[in-house]
Amino acid sequence: MKLKGIVIVSSKVFGEIFILDKIEDFKNDIEIRDVENIFQSYIDYLLEEINGMDEKYREYVNFYVNILRSKSFIQMVKNKDKNLLKSISLAIDEITNKFNLENEHYKDISTELKFFKNELLDFIAGKLEKENFKEGTILVAKNLTIRQSLKAIKSNIKGVILETNALTSHPILILKDKGIPTVISIENAVEIAKNYKYALIDNDEVEFTNEKIEITEKSVYIPFENDYFKTKDGIPIKIQINIDFPEEIEKVRNFDIGLFRTEYLYLNGIISKNEQKDIYEEISHKVYPKILTIRLFDLGGDKVPISIENPDVRGIRYLLYYNRELLNKQISAIKLANKLKNIKVLIPMVSSIEEVIEIKKLLDDIEIGIMIETPASALITDRFKKIVHFFSLGTNDLSQYTLAINRSDISFQQFHPSIFRLIYYSFSKSKPKPFSVCGDMGSNDIGLIALISFGIRIFSIPISYLNRAKEIIEKLDKKVLSEISRKIMTAYREEEIVKCLRFYLDSL
Ligand code: PEP
Ligand code: MG
Repeated sequence: MKLKGIVIVSSKVFGEIFILDKIEDFKNDIEIRDVENIFQSYIDYLLEEINGMDEKYREYVNFYVNILRSKSFIQMVKNKDKNLLKSISLAIDEITNKFNLENEHYKDISTELKFFKNELLDFIAGKLEKENFKEGTILVAKNLTIRQSLKAIKSNIKGVILETNALTSHPILILKDKGIPTVISIENAVEIAKNYKYALIDNDEVEFTNEKIEITEKSVYIPFENDYFKTKDGIPIKIQINIDFPEEIEKVRNFDIGLFRTEYLYLNGIISKNEQKDIYEEISHKVYPKILTIRLFDLGGDKVPISIENPDVRGIRYLLYYNRELLNKQISAIKLANKLKNIKVLIPMVSSIEEVIEIKKLLDDIEIGIMIETPASALITDRFKKIVHFFSLGTNDLSQYTLAINRSDISFQQFHPSIFRLIYYSFSKSKPKPFSVCGDMGSNDIGLIALISFGIRIFSIPISYLNRAKEIIEKLDKKVLSEISRKIMTAYREEEIVKCLRFYLDSL
């Protein structure tokens, strides 16, 4: 059976199917009477997480440890439902409702409890999955969490087929950056896959089959001579690379690292100054004489839930106003690592001048840039221009915060006219400072064309998109680009923009 989806990492791979069922499907795997053991493993996990951290974290964690050890809570969970996850959810909701009073302090507790519930359920779902995904298989699932994406990579999964169409959600970006052949938006993939043994991924097409197929698998990466690709009429487009994990550097030669998402180090427990310094220094040596752009931890929000006390604070504001200690550790590590002077620093989620000034005070001789990923920063790009060395456009967050919609939502419109207006405005106000794109729009066929048509000339993309980017750029020329930008800027709806860009893409 053949189906077409949206390709995230283009490749050709064949393998045995490994199905990752939805959380609800695990209901029979675990007896409700095991609840104490499960809570205990979550307690162990929490205690390990805060090991060596500030005393205040211990207090927060103790609050949850006490709930999880409380006999009445355990009884409540046992009485709610046969499905373990459902009964935990109902039990925590019941407690949460008790705190949902018109009192600020209680309100905070109820917000914390909601956050706690999601973390706990996510943890248990992860535990319930078979310890590792089967190596060398093709993973089929409805959707993945960040943890599951990381696990897929660790388990050397050959390819991924998903039902979701959340192009720019973090779990999918991780697969893209890692170059795992991935196709999304395959309706009913999980149900269909249950009838088959093997799957073939070929670019945007998926074939489920019971017969073995012999194929020549395509490599997703070939080395390049230069760090720019030229359009048909010779305009050079500078290319940099996005990485999420230090080991990705092994495949990168001759390119600047335009974005190193350090928050995944944090997620893997690498937070001490020395551990960070060693990693930054090693990468900076490996890319030298090219540049390593380290983005400060972008924690919070939908990415890495950190702060039980402030689940809604994100990026630079979290570091500056809620966790100076973590910020100081990272800054010191960067300074110590910058022996070859090829490190730059990128600040995430900036919205105000003060935030940048604060960071500048800490980083005297290192060039700093800011992410343009909040509408606020896009609208005052000219103000930032005076104090930063460069800009990096984060189209993923810029879109979700402009449209007030979660980036994993199915109705997320990355090509909405408002996004293009903001980008165009910000870019035009950024000159003469370098302005690059590290968001996913720059590694999406039609997005890349649109952004080049606006005059943007620097793109930081995943390694897995290099071949495709080259192919597209080499077909573009000034005439077609100016037609495209005019059409985008006069459009009323996303649909028109996408249609127009697809038309040009197909006619190249
Ligand atoms: C973005 O928001 O576009 C971006 C590059 O940052 P991240 O995807 O890591 O949030
Ligand atoms: Mg972002």
